[in-house]
Amino acid sequence: MRRLLSLLALLLITTTLAPAQVKTVSQYSEQVKALTNRADMKAANGYIDRHHDSIVREWIAITEINAPSGQEKQRAKYIESLLRKYQLDDVHYDSAGNLIAVRKGTGAGPIVVFDAHLDTVFQPGLQIKATIRDGKIYAPGIGDDTRNIEALLATIRALNEAKIKTKGDLVFVFTVEEETTMKGAQAFVSENKEKIDQYIALDGGYEGFTYAGIGINWYRHHFIGPGGHTRSRTPPYSATLPLARAIDRIYQLKVPANPSSNLNIGMLGGSEVVNAKASDAWFSVDLRSTSNEVIADLEKQIKRILDEEAARVGMKVKTDILGASPAAVIPGHRESYLVRISEAVHRVMGFDPPITNAGSNNSSAALREGISSISTGAGPCEGSHGLNENCEIEPFFKGIKKILLLGVALAGVE
Ligand SMILES: [Zn+2]
Repeated sequence: MRRLLSLLALLLITTTLAPAQVKTVSQYSEQVKALTNRADMKAANGYIDRHHDSIVREWIAITEINAPSGQEKQRAKYIESLLRKYQLDDVHYDSAGNLIAVRKGTGAGPIVVFDAHLDTVFQPGLQIKATIRDGKIYAPGIGDDTRNIEALLATIRALNEAKIKTKGDLVFVFTVEEETTMKGAQAFVSENKEKIDQYIALDGGYEGFTYAGIGINWYRHHFIGPGGHTRSRTPPYSATLPLARAIDRIYQLKVPANPSSNLNIGMLGGSEVVNAKASDAWFSVDLRSTSNEVIADLEKQIKRILDEEAARVGMKVKTDILGASPAAVIPGHRESYLVRISEAVHRVMGFDPPITNAGSNNSSAALREGISSISTGAGPCEGSHGLNENCEIEPFFKGIKKILLLGVALAGVE
């Protein structure tokens, strides 16, 4: 009986805590529009308008501190020194090396996390010097992901300047090792999953956002045969023959465009010398889809082809899995509170946002933990991961205002 009572009590609590019904995008758009008409939000936007030069200077200063994955300390220290001036409630590093800053709300709202990654793909020791021409800044890393680091810093300053007190906490996370393993974000979300209500990964992006992550699977398939000299009588063939036949057949498989899926065979190898039949001929497969069912189905069809072609020539198949990260999908997420609010914010900002489910960034780490998450970004850039990377300057300020509005809309304001 006691047990039943506590069960009833629990049920009651759960019902009271259950989020109010999700409204339509146009209803949220009305709410978001009302937010933009508040004097304090206008003051926050005014702060951004008046500080174009210092924002660009700081953006460049951070970009010029190269931070290859695993070597983010120097850049993190610089950002930490800025955060320390903002009178935040907490600034600390976690065990993975992520830099975390908390701007507490009044306690009556959700906990909203924004992240941007600290790391770059560039080699240690690369001297980065930004140049400005034709309304753009050129520097490796200026966009991916330094534009979003700067957008978060400017957002915090604008909130402070306008004395905006959100209901929910805003948690800013500057993550390590996004470009290699997403280890930083993974550690953060697995340690904090009970506390996080929404997770916004800022990485790339400007006009649109993603609400799911694409699954990426890498394999190396081998055909193993006896090999031998070119003139040997047995076996008749090099292991390259089933390989060639298999590749041809795999490329005839139907790879759906919807759900978004891709298949690529980019690498192959066989014997080390001209005058030997390959005893081990191999090729790589890069298989991607926003649907884990599609991946599983293509995997099965590929396996059948490999087995059949191996059997035809009396050889064996061996498969190495080089990497497997499943699609990060929450059923019904497209119609969730976060995704609809995000769509409303983008529309109110004047964007007609492309909304896709093929993200590949820290947002996937959150989604895999069951945390509602999107990814977006604060400005249009080109050439990421290249030395010619560049970003447009003028739209960036609008991008910062979008991030600010998204944060306030999600966390709520008194
Ligand atoms: Zn990135």
